Amino acid sequence: MKSQTFFIKTFGCQQNEADSQRITSYYLARGYSLAKSMKSAGEIVINTCMIRQSAEDRVTGLVKNIVKSAGRRIKPKIVITGCMVGMAAHDETGKYLKTLRSRMPEVDEFLPLEEVGFDYPALRNDVSHSWVPISNGCNNFCTFCVVPFTRGREVSRPFGDIISEIKGLAKHGCTEVTLLGQNVNSYGADLVKNTKAGYKLPSGRIVKPVMVKHLGRYRIPTLFPYLLEEVCKIKGIKKVKFISSNPWDFSDKLINMIAQNPKIDRNIHLPVQAGDDDVLKRMNRWYTRSQYMKLVEKIKKEIKGAQISTDIIVGFPGEAKKQFENTVDLAKKVNFAYAYVAKYSARPNTAATKAFSDDVDHAEKERRFHVLDQLINHTGINRSAVH
Ligand code: SF4
Repeated sequence: MKSQTFFIKTFGCQQNEADSQRITSYYLARGYSLAKSMKSAGEIVINTCMIRQSAEDRVTGLVKNIVKSAGRRIKPKIVITGCMVGMAAHDETGKYLKTLRSRMPEVDEFLPLEEVGFDYPALRNDVSHSWVPISNGCNNFCTFCVVPFTRGREVSRPFGDIISEIKGLAKHGCTEVTLLGQNVNSYGADLVKNTKAGYKLPSGRIVKPVMVKHLGRYRIPTLFPYLLEEVCKIKGIKKVKFISSNPWDFSDKLINMIAQNPKIDRNIHLPVQAGDDDVLKRMNRWYTRSQYMKLVEKIKKEIKGAQISTDIIVGFPGEAKKQFENTVDLAKKVNFAYAYVAKYSARPNTAATKAFSDDVDHAEKERRFHVLDQLINHTGINRSAVH
């Protein structure tokens, strides 16, 4: 029956793709079946992204198109989930939900991801390489970023659940996993109850949580190096990747763990965002340009074959030409294998939107984007690392 068929359209990052795999199971468990196309579906679920205004615009555009192409036929049910709904769910004033309703009155339901949770197994088309979420949300509040408002505070999945999921995947032919989280290297900070007593791994081994420096003090206990180690031990798993890492939580223990385990991918994604200290400070990134470069040096020295990729934002409020040149200079020195370069886009509720005006004009943002994109992605000598 058409009304019991559904189709998921996903916007955004791998985390959203992984969420859609669980949403698929959630729908199947409720008696729905997968439609072959959006056109033939009785219900269309749109998993949304808010990283930039253009991502939001694509969602509103799609909703209008669905209604338009239904014409005189009965419109399919439209369900919105993902970041836009997360933002509404975490906004106690209810204002953002009102905004969504007025922008997209055609939407029938707003589905918060919390309702789906982690109990539904991800339905993957191809298990040979699987994305496995290890945490959700972020506590860092970089001033440009909407994630802490859409996904909320960082919550780690139980260690044992992650290991069981990967063991199950390996039994079905999975050889490669990518561990996903907004900040994988602070994984487990909320699972550790007593840093002195240690943490008991599912294997029974008691480990000492790794303390990472936060605001000048070693105070975040993470279990990520141990998680990597345990995943590498799983029979059948040949390659372990992870994304994304924050430079300030990249501990020596993590570097050693990668160095010792050839199964762990040598392509390390380490978002720098800017190469100028003043811009970094206004972005609320807790490292300086020189600390970042020292970390890169250490990673390259300790981990044989390590390649660094990154994220950079151009045209952050107040970014002067000289400050942009500092980012260009850093990019030349680090010799990134690849970079996701983004033009700054003011996001609702973020500190940057509240405190600064979006004062770098569009043409200049475009110019800066092309300078860096060309430098890193089209003339870089390490293009072979791009995947
Ligand atoms: S660490 Fe990443 S996800 Fe968290 S606020 Fe900063 S940019 Fe956003």
